Amino acid sequence: SPEHTPYPDGARASEALLTRARKVVPGGVNSPVRAFGSVGGTPRFMTRARGAWLEDADGRSYVDLVGSWGPMILGHTHPQVLQAVTEAAAEGFSFGMPTEREVLLAEEIVRRVEPVERVRLVSSGTEATMSAIRLARGFTGRSAVVKFAGCYHGHVDALLASAGSGVATFGLPDSPGVPASAAAETIVLPYNDLGAVERAFAERGSEIAAVITEAAPGNMGVVPPAPGFTEGLRRITAQHGALLVSDEVMTGFRASAAGWLGLEGVPASGAPDLFTFGKVMGGGFPAAAFGGRAEVMAMLAPEGPVYQAGTLSGNPVAAAAGLATLQACTPEVYARLDEVADALTAAVTDSFGRHGVPHRIQRVGSMFSVFFREGEVRDYDDARAQDTERFGRFFHAMLRRGVHLPPSCYEVWFVSAAHDDEAVQTVVSAIEESAAEIA
Ligand code: PLP
Repeated sequence: SPEHTPYPDGARASEALLTRARKVVPGGVNSPVRAFGSVGGTPRFMTRARGAWLEDADGRSYVDLVGSWGPMILGHTHPQVLQAVTEAAAEGFSFGMPTEREVLLAEEIVRRVEPVERVRLVSSGTEATMSAIRLARGFTGRSAVVKFAGCYHGHVDALLASAGSGVATFGLPDSPGVPASAAAETIVLPYNDLGAVERAFAERGSEIAAVITEAAPGNMGVVPPAPGFTEGLRRITAQHGALLVSDEVMTGFRASAAGWLGLEGVPASGAPDLFTFGKVMGGGFPAAAFGGRAEVMAMLAPEGPVYQAGTLSGNPVAAAAGLATLQACTPEVYARLDEVADALTAAVTDSFGRHGVPHRIQRVGSMFSVFFREGEVRDYDDARAQDTERFGRFFHAMLRRGVHLPPSCYEVWFVSAAHDDEAVQTVVSAIEESAAEIA
């Protein structure tokens, strides 16, 4: 493991890079949450990573609990994945023609997630959900889509709408640039509220193409579906001829070998029609997918009329990384992820409890998050009622001690199978000292 140097004296190289970056990149970053907007301070520019550890431009090392926001389930530069990527790259970077690696990756996904009969590879989770929605609209001939407040499905116009409460809030765009017409086709409902879903379908059932939901939400912190919620969504959508799209971009191949579906099982009322995947299945490279029932997927070009395409879709290097990652995700890997999650959640419970820091941990498989509030979190309103200022102080207390948490209190703490006992112990000690500091 790297020499571990906690630092009190700032991050000069990162600050210099941020100044340069801001002159040529909006906000200096290529994805907003990287800017440390909600916690303040200077985002660290990274130079290299191995296993559970990151190293930044100032030469400081950190135990990584961001994991590239999900993909790095095996830790960084895993030898098997590195070898697969190197071999694939040596054979050609991109052909724009079909390759066996795409078939292998698709077969692996279909083998693991039983209701998925056909799968189309794309390059990001956003593309996966965008294409799944288009396909659902094409298949049903309807336009409206139901999503849940607090669920993130990428920056698709129709899915950025998220605010709203009450029966069936007709979404207003959250972002300038999203036309009101796009948001008007989006019905935003509170999560875990089947009554709200029933009422929305009673009102507009014949217009609704699909309900899209995070299989187990991780983007408002971890908020598991209440018992019967997924089952209810399947029942209601089936009654009204709408599709159910289960977004497993985050949970896929992480919550279990078969994602959230592997933990919860196929609901008694039936499996979702479509699934979206990303993150782990790309092994840190741009690969994602959507798939589902053969009958629905047959609507997709070139078999059917719903258009969807991509210059780099199924890229051979990304497919090699994804395949090697999935193949290396053995039962031992999932067992280790659980052990690491057990150790870290126990440390939070213990240290926060002893120092009187109000908190709530929620978890699905090894995916967990820490809310800076007490009491069960069932939806986005609950999730937002937390002490974000105190989280910001905790984040920086941890960062100073060489632990890089996600810079937002609405994110999962992403563990990897490379988090060995030394990495875990570093985090556990940092949690204890940081809890004392913010108490
Ligand atoms: N869906 C879910 C559940 C996600 O967590 C994310 C990303 O965080 C996305 C979709 C979008 O994926 P991407 O960032 O690869 O576009």
